Amino acid sequence: PYVIGAPCMDIKDNSCVAVCPVDCIYELGRMRVINPNECIDCGACVPECPVDAIYPDDELPEAWEEFVAINAAVADDA
Ligand code: SF4
Repeated sequence: PYVIGAPCMDIKDNSCVAVCPVDCIYELGRMRVINPNECIDCGACVPECPVDAIYPDDELPEAWEEFVAINAAVADDA
C-alpha cells in the first residue's frame, strides 16, 4: 500500500482524498493516513499531494519508517 509521511503534518490537504477511487484516505490527528487494507496501489494520490508526502511503502524514505504504523492505525484490524 501507499503511505502518507511526515510532510502531511498540519497540512491535511484534501487533494488526495478527492482522487482516491476507494476512499481509503482518512484523517488521523494532525495528518491524513491511508488504510493499508483498503489501498489498491493505484498511485493516483501521489501527484496530487502538494507536499510530496505519499510513497509506496517499499519506497518510503527511511526517516519516515514510523509512518507505516501510523497509517496502519486506521486499519480495521488495528
Ligand atoms: Fe487511494 Fe490509490 Fe492512493 Fe491507495 S494509491 S490511497 S487507492 S489513490
